[in-house]
Amino acid sequence: RTVAEQQATLPAPAAPADSPGSVVTMSDRVPYLIIGSGFAGMAAAARAIRASDPLSKVLMIGDEPYPPYLRPPLSKELWRRKDDRVKAMLSPLGDMRRNSWLFVEPDSFFIEPRRLHLADTGGVSLWKGRRVIALDIADKRVTLDSGDRIEYGKCLLATGGRPRTLPVFDAAAAQSPEVAARTAYFRNIDDFQSLRNKANQAKSVIVIGGGFLGCELAVSLTEVAKKTGLECFKESGTLAHVLPPHLSEHTSKFIAQSGVAQYPGERVTSVDWDSAAGQVKVGLSSGRSLSADLCLVAVGIEANTQLAESAGLEIDPGDGGFLVNAELEARADLYAAGDACSYYDVLLGRRRVEHVNHAEESGAVAGRNMASDPADPGRKRSTYQHQSSFWCNLANTLAWDAVGLVDSRLETQSFFAMPPPASDDGAAGSDTAEDYQYPGVVFYLKAGRVVGILLWNLPDEIFQDKKAFAPSRLNLARKVLAERQLADPAALQALAREFDVY
Ligand code: NAD
Repeated sequence: RTVAEQQATLPAPAAPADSPGSVVTMSDRVPYLIIGSGFAGMAAAARAIRASDPLSKVLMIGDEPYPPYLRPPLSKELWRRKDDRVKAMLSPLGDMRRNSWLFVEPDSFFIEPRRLHLADTGGVSLWKGRRVIALDIADKRVTLDSGDRIEYGKCLLATGGRPRTLPVFDAAAAQSPEVAARTAYFRNIDDFQSLRNKANQAKSVIVIGGGFLGCELAVSLTEVAKKTGLECFKESGTLAHVLPPHLSEHTSKFIAQSGVAQYPGERVTSVDWDSAAGQVKVGLSSGRSLSADLCLVAVGIEANTQLAESAGLEIDPGDGGFLVNAELEARADLYAAGDACSYYDVLLGRRRVEHVNHAEESGAVAGRNMASDPADPGRKRSTYQHQSSFWCNLANTLAWDAVGLVDSRLETQSFFAMPPPASDDGAAGSDTAEDYQYPGVVFYLKAGRVVGILLWNLPDEIFQDKKAFAPSRLNLARKVLAERQLADPAALQALAREFDVY
């Protein structure tokens, strides 16, 4: 049922006059308010609050019509499933463990917002399909697009991000309904369903962007959905903002072999509807033009920080995002986590990170800090120190995980096992391996230290030849970063060996 229907059928709770602070109604006061019902908000922060403060009442407000879910499968696994399986996975009803690894909890987990105040042992309410449009920090109050106002004790901004748009596409879509109907952006479940429907009607697709979404969806649309795939991006190669040139080139080759024609070093300069061909025509900076039935624009995201203006909050002038300290606090009793925050990383400096692992871990720290209690040693505030990992998996021999500052503008040192493995110590190579189907490790260096590590075709499993409690490779990488490893070539070669590259 919609919130409006819930409100129509439930009697408004009577507020005991003697305890106004303990009464929670939709227009009253909640001890914990989370704005944004994504992974940072739910999977992490709400759970952390409940774990620290077991009787707590948490209200989450989110503008999506779904309970919180994981986004990564939307550009990956879901494209490889049959229709009935996809339908089951996209249903937030029924047995979540059997049907879905998308949703964090089923709808039935959440207490109806109007009933939160009645929950003796507390719980989590989710008010779906609503936007918070203003935040008043002095009065600790938010205003919703419904006109409702809610006061909070502690509040978390977990508003995530939205796809960056390209003005040239927006202008063309405003003029031509045909272009509008054949242009897609990609971020959420609705975007997945819309792209799937549009792709069903299309024979060819142009993907703009050579980043994570661009390469995953170009391969899914071409290999799985059997479309003619064309991909253009402004950089010199696939994932060139992340990977060193040799690995970017290798990834581009793989994508080309999947059947995607790639056009690197191109920006979109014009978009038109070609009525004779019944296709969208995209002009590129080189003068070339491409035509296809559908265009997918995947040129990055920007943080949802619209609330900053009404709240008087500071935004990171470089990367966007609500500026928070290392405890993820923006102002007194106001926190931010996930894609929407620019936090102070005590090891690597100020950052804004867009990984699901970061959403999970930063949300957990923010939730614990919101529920901290100076009088209780078990509920201390903590610093966000986790180095989140992220991954790319295009094929069995093209899969990697990474942690830290993984930015191709930094100097890198790569160590790869070369085929065939000649001997125990003869297999080492630095930036020399030609066949990157083999395992490797890339160290990203800054000011003479290792600041990022990429594990190429090296699964994060416990090392086979070591004891069961040996650290995973990603945890070993986190340890190397925390120890501020010097960028000495011999030491890096020895480290590569520790990662079992050879
Ligand atoms: P991205 O930042 O990874 O890539 C953006 C791409 O767009 C780059 O190739 C860039 O060169 C290109 N680009 C930017 N402006 C352009 C222009 N004007 N013309 C042509 N090309 C242009 O962002 P994304 O791929 O859109 O992904 C969106 C979000 O989803 C990111 O937060 C990403 O981290 C996340 N995501 C992550 C994964 C993963 O970790 N495996 C997978 C999918 C999505």
